[in-house]
Formats: sequence, C-alpha cells, structure tokens
Amino acid sequence: MRIIINGAGISGPTLAYCLRKAGHDILLVEAAPQLRRGGYVLDFWGIGYDIADKMGLLPRIRELGYQVREVRFVDRHGRKRGGFSTGAIGRLVNGRFTTLRRSDLAATIYGALDGTVETIFGDSVASIEETRQCVRVGFDCAPPRQADLVVGADGLHSRVRRLVFGPDAGVEVSLGYHVAAFAVEGYRPRDELVYVSHGVPGRQVSRWSMRDDKTVFLFVFRDEYLPAASSSSEQEGKSVLAHVFADVGWECPRILAAMESVHSIYFDRVSQIRMDRWTKGRTALLGDAAACVSLLAGEGAGLAMAEAYVLAGELRNCGGDHQTAFARYQQRMMPFLKRKQRSAARFASSFAPKSTFGITFRNLVMRLMQLPFLVDFLFGRELRDEVKLPDYGF
Ligand SMILES: Cc1cc2nc3c(=O)[nH]c(=O)nc-3n(C[C@H](O)[C@H](O)[C@H](O)COP(=O)(O)OP(=O)(O)OC[C@H]3O[C@@H](n4cnc5c(N)ncnc54)[C@H](O)[C@@H]3O)c2cc1C
Repeated sequence: MRIIINGAGISGPTLAYCLRKAGHDILLVEAAPQLRRGGYVLDFWGIGYDIADKMGLLPRIRELGYQVREVRFVDRHGRKRGGFSTGAIGRLVNGRFTTLRRSDLAATIYGALDGTVETIFGDSVASIEETRQCVRVGFDCAPPRQADLVVGADGLHSRVRRLVFGPDAGVEVSLGYHVAAFAVEGYRPRDELVYVSHGVPGRQVSRWSMRDDKTVFLFVFRDEYLPAASSSSEQEGKSVLAHVFADVGWECPRILAAMESVHSIYFDRVSQIRMDRWTKGRTALLGDAAACVSLLAGEGAGLAMAEAYVLAGELRNCGGDHQTAFARYQQRMMPFLKRKQRSAARFASSFAPKSTFGITFRNLVMRLMQLPFLVDFLFGRELRDEVKLPDYGF
C-alpha cells in the first residue's frame, strides 16, 4: 500500500519503520524544515522501551540518555526539602529506563529508516478527499498525491485530526496547566544526574544539567496564573514566563535572565486528546494526535511508539484489509490509553500543588519513594505497563 504519514516526530517514523518492514510504500511529511532539535527531555521506559529494543535502537538511546540518580525538591533558598533517589524505580523496571531529549529519540527512530522513506520537510497535508478506492491528498506546497491510507502523526494539535474529524472542541481536554521548556548553555550551578525542582503554590520550575554544558528548564503552572489576554502561543511564552515566575524565588531571576538569549522555547497548554474513535474511512490517528496523555503521564512517547507498532502490525496481519486492521488497532490500544489518561489526570494535582500544604505533603510522600514496596504499591501497575503486545515480527 501507499501510505502518507503526516508528522515526523516519535510515532510517525516508528510507524514508517514498521510499515517499510512489511513492504509498504511510505511518504513522511513534516511541517518543520528539518527534524526538530533541542527541546525538552523525557523519561523513556515501559512498552516504548521494549519496542525500541525490538527495533535495535537501545544502544544508541542509552548512549544519548542519562541515568537520573536523584529527584530533589528545594525551597526558595535552594535547601533540600524532599525528593528521592531513583534506585527503587530503576529496580522495579529492571534498569530499563533512561532520560533523553525528545529530539534525540525522534532522530534515533528516524535514523533507523536509513534513507528508505521519502520525506518532505517544511510541508503539511492540507486536504484529504476520500474516494472508494483511494484518498487524494493535497499539501501546502507539494503537488497532490494519491494514497491508500493517510495517518495523522502530527501531535497534540493535529491538522489531520481537524481535517477529518472536525474542530478540536470537545476532544481536547485541558488539565488546567501550562508547560514551557527551553535549554541554555553555560548555566550555573549544575547538579549532574540530579533533577532539581522548586515549587510554590501552583507553579513549579525544574532544571536538568546535560552534556555539552547545556541545562534544560521545565516550567509548569496552573492556568489561573496565565495573565489575562495572553495566549498559549510560543511567541508569547517568554513574556508569560517572565511574568508568572517573577516572584517565585530560588534561581528564577537567573533562569529568566538566561531565557532572554534563547531563540525558541516550547510553550503550550497541558491537554489530553480524548476520542472515541481514532480512525475514519482511510485515515487513522496515532500518538498524541489520537490520544495525547500529556507530559503528566511521563510516557507519551513510549505509548506513541506502541500505537505505531500495533497499527503497522494489524495492517500486516489483515493483509491490506484496512478496516479490520483499524478496528483491531483501536480495540487493542484504546482501553489501555484511556487508563493511562485517567491516571495522568489524577496525578495532575501533585505536579504543581495548589497550596503550601500540598507542596509539603507531596515532598513528604516523595521522601518515601526510597522504599521499594511503596514505589511498587503507588506506581507499580503504571510502571510495568500491564498490556501484552503481539510479536508482529518487525
Ligand atoms: C514538556 C513535556 C514533557 C514530556 N515528558 C515526557 C516524558 O517524560 N516521557 C514521555 O514518554 N513523554 C513525554 N512527553 C510526551 C511526548 O513528548 C509525546 O507524547 C510524544 O512526543 C508524542 O509523539 P508524537 O509523534 O505523537 O507527536 P510529536 O512528538 O509531537 O510529533 C509530531 C510531529 O508532527 C509535526 N507536525 C505538527 N503539525 C504538523 C503538520 N500540520 N504537518 C506536518 N507535520 C506536523 C511536528 O513538527 C512534530 O515533528 C512530554 C511532553 C511534553 C510537552
């Protein structure tokens, strides 16, 4: 089959890899002029880690990744107030856990295509017109093409989703937070392999020291702190952060000063995509476009890879009967993703607690994370990804 995939992030190239193995003809389309670089770091483990293993990507991922030793919560003077060493979590997942930049993971997956997949950068699927035998796909720049299937792997704000399923109202559910991230070079202090975090009610800022003297910062804040009349656009990100974190203490004045030299920052609302169907006719949605779990799940990338693996596998097993394959893809993955979404939404309140009491309580609970039985009790089910995926032979 000829399959057009919109979006070369995490899920798009994973799908392209599996579909190529099954002998399909793939076109990848990416809006950015090249693979996105920089950006935030993500924890990578569970079901996605297993798929990366099947794809032979672990050596490179481990090379690019970091093994976090400690998560540390500090007060406005930088004094340790809570946190945990990650040993107990590591033991629970048998060491199959790493932290790396999203862009490094995406580039590693894309690299596995080894030049076998045609990719158009700086373009986007712009129209999808379905006939009985095929889909006619228009682009912003490239001439139109025909395909058997179209896949929207274009993230939380998917254009394919809007084109085929209509406006986002009703499917994008806000979790009540905004998130921002950027990286700078030469920032001091550094704490190697320690994720350092400072929170005041409703606002939290964290830093992570990386190789090449880089530091990445992650900001999360509750929506009520978003200044009136400002939007969630990346252009406004800097001024919003400068306003929201001005009085937060700790290293914020230095971090906000460092932000001034940064060209681009990641800034967005924290939302989930909740849909009752991920496919329609000859179009399927994948990854964040279909079922964004949000950063609060700490696993969206791995889940996006799992969805790609299952979609490609079911297409292979159904020998080109895309309707049956699409139905099986949804049956297999949707209940699991919905469970992940519910648990991420429950976790939301502990991410940037509303009150000083909430922060103190969260810090206390986190101190207990040294205890393996407690980690197992609180997070065991989530960390183990209790879902069994078939071996599709990719
Ligand atoms: C701050 C933050 C922290 C996170 N932490 C974690 C974590 O710890 N662990 C984890 O597993 N996950 C984490 N996630 C979630 C994870 O990044 C996503 O779930 C994952 O990237 C989803 O992959 P995807 O391929 O579906 O979408 P994306 O990775 O978003 O890729 C979508 C691609 O589509 C492209 N695109 C967008 N629009 C168009 C268009 N119109 N046409 C063509 N291309 C388009 C984009 O440029 C991008 O390359 C985090 C997310 C955030 C925001």
